[in-house]
Amino acid sequence: MNEPQRTIFHIDIDAFYASVEVRDNPSLKGKPLIVGFDPEGGKGRGVVVACSYEARNLGVRSGMPISRAYRIAPDAVYVLPDYRKYTEASARIMKLLRGHADELEQVGIDEAFLDVSSRVRGIEEAKALALEIKREIGSEGLTCSIGIAPNKSSAKIASDLLKPDGLTVVPSTLVAEFLAPLPVSVIPGVGKKTGDFLKERGIETISQLQSLPGKQLVRWFGKNGVWLWGVIHGTEQIAVRPREQKSLNVEKTFRRDVKDYRTVMKEAELLAHELVRRIKRGNLHFRTIGVKIRFRGFETHTMEKTLAEDSDDLESVLSTVKSLLKNFEDRKGAVRLVGVRASHLRRKEDELSTLDSWS
Ligand SMILES: [Mg+2]
Repeated sequence: MNEPQRTIFHIDIDAFYASVEVRDNPSLKGKPLIVGFDPEGGKGRGVVVACSYEARNLGVRSGMPISRAYRIAPDAVYVLPDYRKYTEASARIMKLLRGHADELEQVGIDEAFLDVSSRVRGIEEAKALALEIKREIGSEGLTCSIGIAPNKSSAKIASDLLKPDGLTVVPSTLVAEFLAPLPVSVIPGVGKKTGDFLKERGIETISQLQSLPGKQLVRWFGKNGVWLWGVIHGTEQIAVRPREQKSLNVEKTFRRDVKDYRTVMKEAELLAHELVRRIKRGNLHFRTIGVKIRFRGFETHTMEKTLAEDSDDLESVLSTVKSLLKNFEDRKGAVRLVGVRASHLRRKEDELSTLDSWS
């Protein structure tokens, strides 16, 4: 018996934080724009949180030290991140998207899968719906890239292929052909470790992976090999399912305000360990890690980073927390509270999407 044909959209807002800033200040349009901390003439600490395509074209990347971005693009416009604004814009967009979907699965702040199977008949109607969604997101002052495919993994790969303002359609009969020429690194869940492993065996494209017997994939990757087989042959059928909205937080208020930032970092490390312990106990994966820091006088900052894929890994929590907290290191004033947070949680058994965790 044939499974009913599904139509899945993956929608990703283009350069989300930077685009929200441009929306609110149109004079920034067309300029290289860097969201991050004060570069202080090249001496500033902290990282680039996000940047516009114009800044990317100069070689600036998110996650790069702000001092390095300043060397590359001293004339770019630098703005501080405003997470309240981004969260609010995200909520408006998700609400709008929800109105077009049978099911919506939000992935990070600016990305979602939509199952629109009951809403469209065939590719032409799917394209028309995608264009309508683009129009509505456009009236929010933003643009997005959309991938349309019969399953989540191909929809995601399709939306990543053409940015910004892309629309990539993968007909259900041509998924394997669409994937074949692409490098294995486009597969969500194939990170550096798996990429290197395959490269050592002479495998760089999906078509090379497709030519392997399924048994070989299972020998290499265990049950994740079954998932990978489904992805590369276009038969993966993981459901679009809403994520749990909840997040996990751990915080510490110091008995006395702390002036030595090393003490703050140390405490954050302990909190990160505790957070991961709770994540593992709940059998959860997170997608987003955040920090909170409160200075004397109740000046409070939050900052977060959405990872490329689901994780429950202590090392990625530690490195993310440290790099986020570095942004506040040069602030004057004693620290009253520090906190770490994981969000966009989901139960592990719902998905086998992180191939890099196979060993
Ligand atoms: Mg995006």
